[in-house]
Amino acid sequence: MSQRILVTGAAGFIGSHVSAMLLARGDEVVGLDNFDPYYAPANKRANVEELASGPNGSAFRLVEGDIRDRALVEKLFAEGIDAVVHLAALVGVRASLEIPHDYLDVNLTGTLNLLEAARRRPVRNFVLASTSSAYGNTAIQPFIETDPADRPLAPYAASKRAAEMLAHSYHHLYGQDVTVLRFFTVYGPRNRPDMMAYKVLDSIFTGKQIPLYGAGDMFRDWTYVEDIARGVVQALDRPLGYEILNLGRGQPVRLLDFIRCMEEFAGRKAHLVPQPKVDSDALTTSADIEKARRLIDYEPRVSVRDGVGRLWRWYARAMSAEEKPAAPARSRPKLGVVD
Ligand code: NAD
Repeated sequence: MSQRILVTGAAGFIGSHVSAMLLARGDEVVGLDNFDPYYAPANKRANVEELASGPNGSAFRLVEGDIRDRALVEKLFAEGIDAVVHLAALVGVRASLEIPHDYLDVNLTGTLNLLEAARRRPVRNFVLASTSSAYGNTAIQPFIETDPADRPLAPYAASKRAAEMLAHSYHHLYGQDVTVLRFFTVYGPRNRPDMMAYKVLDSIFTGKQIPLYGAGDMFRDWTYVEDIARGVVQALDRPLGYEILNLGRGQPVRLLDFIRCMEEFAGRKAHLVPQPKVDSDALTTSADIEKARRLIDYEPRVSVRDGVGRLWRWYARAMSAEEKPAAPARSRPKLGVVD
């Protein structure tokens, strides 16, 4: 049966893929997004236009607004919402060092507003996007959901972990089903321009220099965006009480090898400038995905090679159409591997 799903952050990278998947299967999507200026609002508008003109696009409704606006959030829930996918956030590890108050405000207070509005209504499930950064620099790999997550390395990570805990209290007090999904380095078409995958493509294409921290020897569990979106939809369909699930690929790849793979597709080299490692970055992120397999039948399907090929084709098409996502608008200290 078709449901009415509130997708916060629907105009963004992951949100646009999740919304498209929900629409394609016949759900109604209420997309709440404030087109945050952190990166290319014009590209987010293009994402939304694509949703509205794509399969079942008439079932997509954009609400331009802020999750911190309590009255607006209350009004949306009062109109009837069956389930929530909460993706809206200020993102990026290093940028959170610049404006930590804003990160906490959006990522924690914004989440609180949604949980508060949801608790007064029969909202079947609440899927909360979180991050592998919640684990910090845990020595033992891969990260498993029972690992301690009490040593975040940056305000972004702390804000997301705090939101997870807040959501637990709403489950405990009011019985709200909440599934927390910890995403591992997501990449693919509509990639955020502040993320390494995009920056490497940009460097290959334009010759721009980009910093490569720690000789590119950090490992990341690169996960293709469609695998993530499918995991989100499967989690939405299976309320579990309160659970935290890793959504990754389960096979980390060294950053330098990921870059070399992109260079192979492009037939050209990126312009990498070696820099010392920075403290807010985890050395390795690697997901144990057995719990997600068991509880929501999650199974990543796209290999890194295929995913990079798809990302490259999207980027090349966007470049030729001059639709390339602009660089982040907000000034940021150092960019590298972030989520
Ligand atoms: P994104 O920036 O592309 O999407 C976030 C969206 O939220 C944007 O469209 C933005 O305009 C919107 N937004 C920001 N502040 C808002 C506010 N106050 N009110 C309403 N909308 C607001 O980022 P993304 O990569 O798609 O990330 C989506 C979610 O996944 C985030 O919660 C992020 O923390 C999480 N995540 C992403 C990754 C990754 O690799 N991309 C990894 C781990 C976790």
